[in-house]
Amino acid sequence: MQDILLIGGKYPDFEKREFVQANVAVKDGKITYIGADEPAAAEKIDCSGKVISPGFIDIHMHEENVSEGDKWVIAEMMLKQGVTFALGGNCGVMRQPAAEFKEMIKRTGGCPINYGLLSGYNYYRNNVLGIDHDEPASKEDRDKIAGYMRKDIEEGAFGISFGIEYDPGITTEEMKYAMQFQGDGDFLVSAHYRGDAAKAPEAVREMIELQNATGKKFQISHLSSCSAMGQMDEVLEMIEKAAGENPRLDFDTYPYNAFSTMMGSEVFQDGCLQGWGKDYNDVLLTEPPYENVLCTKEIFDDARKNYPDMLAVVFAMNEDEIAAAVSHRLGMVASDGIISNGKGHPRAAGTFPRFLGKYVREEKRLTLMEALEKITLRPATRLGMENFKGVIKEGADADITVFDPETILDGPTFEDINIENRGIDCVIVGGRVSLFEGKPTGVLAGRFVRKSK
Ligand SMILES: [Zn+2]
Repeated sequence: MQDILLIGGKYPDFEKREFVQANVAVKDGKITYIGADEPAAAEKIDCSGKVISPGFIDIHMHEENVSEGDKWVIAEMMLKQGVTFALGGNCGVMRQPAAEFKEMIKRTGGCPINYGLLSGYNYYRNNVLGIDHDEPASKEDRDKIAGYMRKDIEEGAFGISFGIEYDPGITTEEMKYAMQFQGDGDFLVSAHYRGDAAKAPEAVREMIELQNATGKKFQISHLSSCSAMGQMDEVLEMIEKAAGENPRLDFDTYPYNAFSTMMGSEVFQDGCLQGWGKDYNDVLLTEPPYENVLCTKEIFDDARKNYPDMLAVVFAMNEDEIAAAVSHRLGMVASDGIISNGKGHPRAAGTFPRFLGKYVREEKRLTLMEALEKITLRPATRLGMENFKGVIKEGADADITVFDPETILDGPTFEDINIENRGIDCVIVGGRVSLFEGKPTGVLAGRFVRKSK
């Protein structure tokens, strides 16, 4: 007797490049049958007209902040857009050490989705040197930072991340040094660039150089938020050339024309608005006393000084450049989602339905097969999980997202992140129905996933 039988849908076969009509059965957390028969099952789910996709994998997001309490806020947003595995700890800004995050999963008896982590360099650099330390770290301090990060690696982190822009004192040399301590393991390194807009090509060049020098799997983070201000063609060409020589270079990008970060961050240094070619009223604030308020100079200065942790949304990017990045043959689509006190950019809650609805169905920028590969098999392969995640095949983990390709679309907006997505029918995490007809079932089947190879 199977646990669940998904009947009448079609799944993507990435090798044959075709959608295959089949019934899919699940038992004890694994996919146990794919074919035309209808094996007996405790629960049957009609998937006629739907796609039975591997659960979406978000290779770039920001996990819960444990100090806000044991609440799965962004994890639930992930589940509601079809994500079954997410990688936190990006941009150097991990929100707590891996051990503390794992404790939270244990305390709550599981999580709505499966989680992995990167170890964030800036987080530990700030611990060792204090915040906004603009000088390069000494050898002794670099070793201290490495000591902390080694603990995360021992806890099962998939690699390390940098937020170069956030701490401009981080030199290329300092990063190379940090990239060595992981040893020979096949770890992922991701980096949030040093500068955006006019500085984007130079920032991308630095990351290509880092990749070349170290040979690591290297991920340029959220490409559109540095380069969709007039530089996208140029940086995509640079990346294509570099990746042609070394395919371990890749990037992720999100499908929105606005970025979001904290008001106190270096991103908002003097001259930033001119650099983006934007004005104060292109900056939207997200929390009281300025919830949903567009800035004036006075509000901008006040928020920067008195509410440094408040997230701001900046409408700084060009739509055609966003489309070029999300549909490029290289790269993966990921949310970069971050939620602070329940608030944040809608990308945390709508990235995947938006990608499949707007860029695939409505604008036909890429095929559904290409799009699904970018959010399932490609990130799984990047993380060394391709034998058990990111594919529909017998023996693989039963992390599955059933969606309607004719209706899928994002709901969340900059004004209200809680508007529901459309077309996500059913999400199975670890073999258990965790979302049905768009609603979470309350099952916490997600686990902390360690890097496995
Ligand atoms: Zn970032």
